[in-house]
Formats: sequence, C-alpha cells, structure tokens
Amino acid sequence: MKIVAVRTHLLEHKLDVAFESASMRFDRRAHVLVEIECDDGTTGWGECLGPARPNAAVVAAYANWLIGENPLENEKIWARLYNALRDQGQRGLTITALSGIDIALWDIKGKRFGVPISTLLGGRFRESVKAYATGSFKRDGVDRVEDNATDVARYWAEGFHATKLKIGFGVEEDLRVVRAAREAVGSDMRIMVDANHGYDAVEAIRFGQAAAELNIDWFEEPVVPEQLAAYREVRARQPIPVAGGETWHTRWGMKEPVETRCVDILQPDLAGVGGFTEAKRVADMAALHGVRVVPHVWGTAVHIAAALQFMASMVPSPVRLNPIEPILEFDRTHNPFRQAIIKTPIEHVNGVVVIPNGPGLGIEINRDALVEFRMGDA
Ligand SMILES: [Mg+2]
Repeated sequence: MKIVAVRTHLLEHKLDVAFESASMRFDRRAHVLVEIECDDGTTGWGECLGPARPNAAVVAAYANWLIGENPLENEKIWARLYNALRDQGQRGLTITALSGIDIALWDIKGKRFGVPISTLLGGRFRESVKAYATGSFKRDGVDRVEDNATDVARYWAEGFHATKLKIGFGVEEDLRVVRAAREAVGSDMRIMVDANHGYDAVEAIRFGQAAAELNIDWFEEPVVPEQLAAYREVRARQPIPVAGGETWHTRWGMKEPVETRCVDILQPDLAGVGGFTEAKRVADMAALHGVRVVPHVWGTAVHIAAALQFMASMVPSPVRLNPIEPILEFDRTHNPFRQAIIKTPIEHVNGVVVIPNGPGLGIEINRDALVEFRMGDA
C-alpha cells in the first residue's frame, strides 16, 4: 500500500453576524481538510486546527515526503515529517499540518483493517459521550449578558448537561455574564468558562476568586500559553480548576505544563497536538502525572469524528466502577458546513453523542458539500 496523492480542501462560509472570543474575531468560518489517497483507491481524511490557507501550504510542503510511503507506518511517517521541519518547527503550523496528515493516515489504517480507529488505539471504553455546548461568544450588536444567558437556557432545554461561556473581555462584565447564565439555568447545569488567554494573571485571579461561588467546573486558558509561571500562579491563588492545552503541541510542548501542574485539566486537540499518534503519548503522560484529559474540539465533523475516536479509547483514570468520563466539546456557533461535509451528521440527542463505529473515523465525506463551501480565491 502506497500514498499516491495528498490534497487539501479549503472550506469557507461568510457569517451574517460576526462573533468574538477574547483574542479572535470571526466574520467567517474557514477550515481545511486533508485528503490522502492510496494506490488501492483508499482515501483517508484529516483536519488541521487553525488558519486554513497557511495550514494547507505546510501540508503541501510535507506532501513531498509522503508520496510513495506506506500509509500504515504512522510512527515512521510522523518522525520523518517532524524531523523534516524540526529546526524551524516544533510547534504551531508545522504541527497542526502534521496533525491533519496523521489523522488521515489513521483513517486509512482503520479502513484497511475494517475497524474504527478507537479499536486500533487499544479498544473502546465507551460507545457514547456526553457533549457540552460551546457557544456564548460576544456577538456583534447585542447585549452580551442577555445574549449568553439566552444561549445557555436554550442549551439546557436541548438536553446539554454542561456549557462553556466565553470570558476575557473584562472582569466585571464577565462576572455579570456568568452570574446571569447561572441564574438562567439554576444549579444543575455544569458551567465552564474560557478566557481564550485574554486575561493577565492579576485579572484571572480576581475573576476566579469572585466567580468560584457560581460553581464553575473549569477556568480555561486564563493567561497566554507561553506564560507557564502565570498559569501556576492562577492555579495556586484562585479556587476554580484550571484547564488549558489547545495551543500546546506535541509531547514536548505538554511536558512542562503537565510536570509542573500548570493545569488540572489538559486539553490536547487532535488536529493540533500532532494527531492520534501524539495525542496518545500526551494522554499517557497526563495519566502518569494524574492530570485529567478533556480534548479540545473546534472545526468540522472530521475533527469531531477524530476526537470521538480518541475519546472512545481513553483509559479511565483512575479505573474504577463508576469512572470519570471524558466530555465532548460541541461547538454550537453558526457553521453550515460543519456537518454538511459528511453523509451522516454527528448530532447529539439530549446532549449525548454516539461514537461512530465504522472503519477509520467512521464517517463518509460528502464531496458535493466540499464543492459548495469551497473557499474563494480572494
Ligand atoms: Mg478554548
């Protein structure tokens, strides 16, 4: 079995109403898929986290080293591609692009052996996961306090057990947002907050101390990912468990945050950390140090499917009769191609998502949608 082609598919939808996190403005949805074709006609699909065109450029650069390789040799390919751009790489686009390739290789491997990726990773501990609703960004032209409270009430009514609110816009306004959300859904819904590294340590500590009484499950990316000492300070000086990791890449990027306990909950992203090959290593390292893992997810159904396969195979830590289960990040913001690009959409029922059990990622790509949402040249 040999790789004969590596392609990227750039997808885009311009939004009528833009929205913002603390660090990024979204006036369109744009994502990039990776397609790897083999000489026997098998194709594997992956996705890269982050900007579509730059990721596609790096995937194209890696393609030179992929053509003619055996797609089943994921470790060998990972090591060679990593080494090819190591001196100028190590994290960022070189790793997000590698992640999309690695996911596609595992999809091929699953299809080759007729089993889901989760089986290849060691076995399925679970057939479904509870999802949490990610939404509640800052939307243009509306009152954020009211808008987010309306969002979370809708998620609760739809059956979600948990939701995540975007903060990092200013401590006092953020506290009003979280209080209103808590009032809207009562005490039973789990609420997490995500500052998207919009605070400095002083703000994060002040927010955490004030918000703790609102029963917050985790405080995500309180400060910028490079400031590990600030992470540790935030974790030490306010009571909400700290989460992070969506921008820390590879085992080397995760090593210090895990070993020095920057976070209580580590959030590797399958499409960013280095694909399945690297996520497995990172999860093992986190388990070794007693750090909980909840994967970060953002993007299309390909990314969601990859996260689901990984989550199916995550070893409970600790193993016990009633284990702590991973929960799926389920983006609720507007994106018409998120599920349209696969033939059977991955949806939730009462906040629960069934993990596909077909070969590879367990999804089938809808090529018509790839054409419909193809990114323009501009
Ligand atoms: Mg986040």
